[in-house]
Amino acid sequence: MKIGIVGAGQVGASAAYAIALLGKAREIVLIDLDPAMAAAQAEDISHAMPFAATTEVRAGGYSDLTGAEVVIIAAGVSQKTGETRLDLLARNAAVFRIVTDQVLTHAPDAILLIASNPVDIMTGITLRLTGLPAHRVIGSGTILDTARFRVLLGQHLDIDPRSIHAYVLGEHGDSEVLSWSSAQVGARDLLSFARETGRPITDTVRAAIDEGVRRAAYRIIEGKGATFYGIGAGLARLVAAIEGDENSVHSVSIMTPEMEGVKDVPLSLPRVVGKGGVITDVAPEISAEEHAALAASAKLLKDTLEAVRI
Ligand code: ADP
Repeated sequence: MKIGIVGAGQVGASAAYAIALLGKAREIVLIDLDPAMAAAQAEDISHAMPFAATTEVRAGGYSDLTGAEVVIIAAGVSQKTGETRLDLLARNAAVFRIVTDQVLTHAPDAILLIASNPVDIMTGITLRLTGLPAHRVIGSGTILDTARFRVLLGQHLDIDPRSIHAYVLGEHGDSEVLSWSSAQVGARDLLSFARETGRPITDTVRAAIDEGVRRAAYRIIEGKGATFYGIGAGLARLVAAIEGDENSVHSVSIMTPEMEGVKDVPLSLPRVVGKGGVITDVAPEISAEEHAALAASAKLLKDTLEAVRI
């Protein structure tokens, strides 16, 4: 499969690296406003290929996207001093107008994977700009928050995180909802399994895991300036799901017709991902408290999206 990546910064390059190592692409084309940077990233990543897989990794222009089945958009501008979040959003929307126009011209049938933040809003903006069907414009959403939740639960329970089915719903951001009530270990309810195995989810444990998931990005940014390996692997996992027509379940953000009474809002739920993009949703049964938190998250995202001028 041919993959295009627009934005060869830390997230775009990490995604390219992870996809290349997984061996899920025949060809990866990196495009950036800074072509020398894209070329350097591509050259560096291509040197990993003799240790991994036969993937051609190169830099290019938009015309090189012809035939790409998936295009990842990880381009963006960073916040200027004194700039409001909405002003930043408007500038990133302007970047997306140019990028999506070019992508659609050269790869009209591609599935778009959106990674730029705030990812739910950028997913909504992409849908508005392109008019594509919602199932083909997929934001990475809470795929990473869900991974962080599983890692911490796995550490607490001493269980492989891949055997823990727990999801983070709603916004990829402060209002996200950790669904404790629907979490499972194998086929067992997580909370009762934890109690029976002598590792109960006490209020203290719950608060620590909640904080660990919710504050992960802040902590990592404080330590190294940015987060990129986790999301790079998450994007690669989505590429694998599409490439293999897996119909596997991932928490990703797409425009959702209705959530908790809020109409047309981009947010994350567990969704089935395969060749055509998102095939269907697997909305979990959640507690009243989680319903209320998800409603608040949906409303916040809807209000923000409505406030963006494009
Ligand atoms: P992140 O950590 O999110 O990857 P970076 O700043 O490292 O952030 O990467 C963002 C990338 O997006 C930069 O390499 C930047 O040059 C690129 N970019 C910004 N605007 C555009 C654009 N209009 N077209 C293509 N790439 C762009």
